[in-house]
Amino acid sequence: KCPANYTPLSPITFLQRAAAVYANRTSVIYGRTRFTWKQTYERCCRLASSLRSMNIAKNDVVSVLAPNIPALYEMHFAVPMAGAILNTINSRLDPKTVATILKHSEARIFFVDYQYVNLASEALRLLFVGPHESLSAPLVVVIDDIDAPTGARLGELEYEQFIRNGNPGFMGCPVEDEWDTIALNYTSGTTSAPKGVVYSHRGAYLSTLSLILQWEMKSEPVYLWSLPMFHCNGWTFTWGMAARGGTNVCIRNTSAVEMYQAISEHKVTHMCCAPIVFNILIEGMGKPNPNRRLGLASPVEILVGGAPPPASLLEKIERLGFHVTHAYGLTEATGPALVCEWQTKWDRLPRDDQAKLKARQGLSVLALADVDVKDLTTMASVPRDGQTVGEIVLQGSSIMKGYYKDMDATNKAFKDGWFLTGDVGVIHLDGYVEIKDRSKDVIISGGENISSVEVETVLYNHPRVLEAAVVAMPHPFYGETPCAFVALNNGDQVREGDIISYCKTNLPHYMAPKKIVFLNELPKTATGKIQKFQLRALAKTYSSS
Ligand code: ADP
Repeated sequence: KCPANYTPLSPITFLQRAAAVYANRTSVIYGRTRFTWKQTYERCCRLASSLRSMNIAKNDVVSVLAPNIPALYEMHFAVPMAGAILNTINSRLDPKTVATILKHSEARIFFVDYQYVNLASEALRLLFVGPHESLSAPLVVVIDDIDAPTGARLGELEYEQFIRNGNPGFMGCPVEDEWDTIALNYTSGTTSAPKGVVYSHRGAYLSTLSLILQWEMKSEPVYLWSLPMFHCNGWTFTWGMAARGGTNVCIRNTSAVEMYQAISEHKVTHMCCAPIVFNILIEGMGKPNPNRRLGLASPVEILVGGAPPPASLLEKIERLGFHVTHAYGLTEATGPALVCEWQTKWDRLPRDDQAKLKARQGLSVLALADVDVKDLTTMASVPRDGQTVGEIVLQGSSIMKGYYKDMDATNKAFKDGWFLTGDVGVIHLDGYVEIKDRSKDVIISGGENISSVEVETVLYNHPRVLEAAVVAMPHPFYGETPCAFVALNNGDQVREGDIISYCKTNLPHYMAPKKIVFLNELPKTATGKIQKFQLRALAKTYSSS
């Protein structure tokens, strides 16, 4: 039984505090639209009350498909204020996967940005293909552009109407237990079905605080939304900006022009991204555009993660005036789990040595109790010698509650209380962890996960394919891209381009292999398992072709 003075931890309190403490500070910038923290709070209260009036109750799921716009930001507070669970959907997914997510989460309301009306309507159509006895369609609310309304419609309601109809005095439903669910983020797992990662209010609260502390983020940051908010709730900085009284600079696209313009116009101080965005920033720097040459007037702090940033890339981006902090994480750990904390004694080292140290994934964030590298058969820790490889395992408050409605997958994700990351690495004498490989069958292309198994399943459905295996192929821009090795049925012939098109019609485009290699037979172990390590080595030889 909880004592009477028990106050559950929840990031909702960051917004209530921001409205009181930073009332007239700018909270959100999007095009010509500006809100203050007082206004953002009021809009969230209205939205939460509208959701309640639509009979949204505790633990109902509210899904949203939107780019980094004010509405998506507001939902990070308003949905849990209504007692519900926020499910942000990756807008790069295909209609089939979006439908799978809506079905599995039993979403009650589906907010759709006008840009994704086609994707959403196709997903809604697919929702009722196949078994759906007890399924009822979610209520659809379209989000038109707040700055330049387009008139696009899907369903009966529009977001701003939802806000107008709400009660600005609604205080939100009290969080009774900090272990209650705040968010549900689907990750493409290593099996064919996406898995719903469940975050608690407590985990979100502690992860947020630990990240702003470890990134040494002072109050009043100006934060550019270059990382999608749908990636682990923007690695918690959605909630973090309210905690710091920061300004959210929202942009629809991460083109070099949009990013550099936002940086100079709003004096951006912080941003997060996957290493692929570095390439965009490096290519765009110094290019002329209608207004001025793109560049930086003052240094910008970047938190990079989601895929390994090569040391050479870190060096290049820092030469442009960005100051990089490297983090490693995964959806199951509420985003960043390790941060490569800088040590002042490294300040005197040459730049390339510094970049090598920075390319290490680092130390556990404060919200974690521990990180270790273990031999999974014995669960013994590997020696801290920077050489012996083992699996990276994590423990602590930023680890998910589990996978939504999937006890089996949840049980498999943990061993002896440790969360198994599926990443293989070493631990150095100074405690810094460095990734060497991945034991899970995932390809990371431009910061997006691609499950090899999902792509293989599609390839196996092709009538001419006998065997298929998909591995990562190094790529100068995306880091990795999928490369498929295929053996055809005896006597069959098919062109590489036809197989790629087949994949594109059956998968989100970014998941389709960029290269198909035809072999007579795939290399196998004595027990008949495909030897992916051989294929990985082979894929490296094709990466430049
Ligand atoms: P996110 O949405 O943050 O990209 P995912 O769960 O989709 O998280 O992907 C997590 C995986 O990405 C990790 O298990 C790891 O393989 C890889 N990853 C993330 N950050 C890094 C990093 N800094 N260096 C190397 N690999 C990374």
